[in-house]
Amino acid sequence: MTAVRRVPVGAGTPEGVNSAYVLPDAGVVVDPGPPGEDAWDALRGGIDDAGLALGDVEHVLVTHWHADHAGLATRLAEAADASVAMHAADAPLVGDYAAERDRRLERDAAALCRWGVPEDVRDRLVASDRPSPVPDTYDVRALSDGESVAGVELVHTPGHTAGHASYVYDGRLLLGDLLLPTYTPNVGGSDTRTDDPLADYLDSVDRVAAEFDRGEPGHGTTMDVAEEAAAVREHHCERARRVLDALPEEGGVTPWAVARDLFGEMNGIHAKFGAGEASAHLRRLDAAGAVERSGENPVEYRAVPGDHSVGSNLTP
Ligand SMILES: [Zn+2]
Ligand SMILES: [Zn+2]
Repeated sequence: MTAVRRVPVGAGTPEGVNSAYVLPDAGVVVDPGPPGEDAWDALRGGIDDAGLALGDVEHVLVTHWHADHAGLATRLAEAADASVAMHAADAPLVGDYAAERDRRLERDAAALCRWGVPEDVRDRLVASDRPSPVPDTYDVRALSDGESVAGVELVHTPGHTAGHASYVYDGRLLLGDLLLPTYTPNVGGSDTRTDDPLADYLDSVDRVAAEFDRGEPGHGTTMDVAEEAAAVREHHCERARRVLDALPEEGGVTPWAVARDLFGEMNGIHAKFGAGEASAHLRRLDAAGAVERSGENPVEYRAVPGDHSVGSNLTP
């Protein structure tokens, strides 16, 4: 029996089809998948194939609050009489879902306004956010970095979300959305609670890349961690340069204007991800002294003339 069994679940997001992980010897399921009957059937089949009865699942661990990972957590826990646990910073977004969803929509709307996203794009985005079919409240255990459940250790890897966690079991690393084989995880728009998400994210990537050669992503199959970590760093260095190139030296432009320059037309979730990523880069460039910021709603940036070594400044 393998220690970690991957179960493909759900129809796929831009990040790819979700990967749930069944750890039969520990009685644990990590990231059961998105809500919906097809994903539920696939998950149930995967638990069976792992040689586990539903009642043998004792703990449901979640890498982060996004619905494609956490959506089935409460349903599985309820059906198996299991506990749900995740990092403390993300736990309320699942455990206190209804109230936290309202807060999130409000917080996102404020962030979009700050980033200069036009009102019609903001309105369409809020209107397109559908509630997940999950309980308003549920008992979710809040874990901290280094804590273990049934021999599965949580490693806090913030950036994509504030409470994003990876898990280590039997020498295997379960990555969630920290690194993905076919997609660069969004940073900045995927959780608007963080102050400097790109710095957090790159620190998290470095932390796991220092310890692990291979990892199991939250979408797709086993991947080379060092290779992907290097690709992610190169991607963000390149993007930092393009953000800097998009800025005037006089006056100022909003993160939204920078995102339009980088990504062209954006709507729905892509508007939030694009503007959020531009904002995350501008925050980094600000810390490096390469840009000057003015205004509040919206905030604007201009380039500070001079020779800025943006690559190394990604982690000042
Ligand atoms: Zn995610
Ligand atoms: Zn995901």
